[in-house]
Amino acid sequence: MEHCRHIGVITLFPEMLRNVLGTSIPDRARQKGIVEYHIWDLRAFGIGSYHSVDDYPYGGGGGMVLKPEPISEALDCATAELEALSGGELPRLVFPSPQGRVFVQKVAETWSRETRPLLFLCGHYEGVDQRVLESYLLEEWSCGDYVLSGGEIPSALMIDAIVRLIPGVLSNADSPQNETFTNGSFDFPQYTRPRSFRGREVPPVLLSGNHEAIRTFREELSRKKQQEIRPDLGNGRSGISG
Ligand code: SAM
Repeated sequence: MEHCRHIGVITLFPEMLRNVLGTSIPDRARQKGIVEYHIWDLRAFGIGSYHSVDDYPYGGGGGMVLKPEPISEALDCATAELEALSGGELPRLVFPSPQGRVFVQKVAETWSRETRPLLFLCGHYEGVDQRVLESYLLEEWSCGDYVLSGGEIPSALMIDAIVRLIPGVLSNADSPQNETFTNGSFDFPQYTRPRSFRGREVPPVLLSGNHEAIRTFREELSRKKQQEIRPDLGNGRSGISG
């Protein structure tokens, strides 16, 4: 087996990450020894007896901003640990942000093939002091055009999308080959037992045993739905890579 992939997260809410990464396929990847997750609590790097991590923004305006010192200490600590665990490879530093490039399947595929560790810094409140983003050259990546309360859900989302693509994580039966976006198109609709549900029948071709007819039927349905809902996908718009 290839080397274990190390993925770290710096967050004010470690339990959120532990819950998601300790469940389903992300946890299966860990149990198989393919990935290891490392979570740092930003509060542990806070300043003074209150472990303060945030402060008012210069220039006024509502909300609080995450201070640079606790973040830089957490980044230094996490980077050194991940580097040591990965035989000297420096982590890719990721800041989930609504102002970043959009994280799409192609990016997940590229990152799933890398060996260097990944380190996510979760923002909160109004965000993070700009100077820390600049001095650590954090890459900003967005999970979509909306604003969430913190970087925990985007980090978990990106990690899930990456990890399930690392060879060996999914069994052959769950192979991502035919999934939506992998070939720039939608997956086909799925049916299981019972054959009849509330007056709706499973399409008869799926019971025919004719593999060619089934393939054509599925392709037709997925193409039709994709053209209706996401005609942009067929034009290579999902081709952003990271
Ligand atoms: N003031 C920021 C703005 O308007 O761009 C939004 C801050 S948001 C409330 C707090 C944190 O949540 C961000 O620093 C970022 O880490 C995370 N976040 C929110 N929406 C996100 C998105 N769409 N993609 C990735 N991260 C996001």
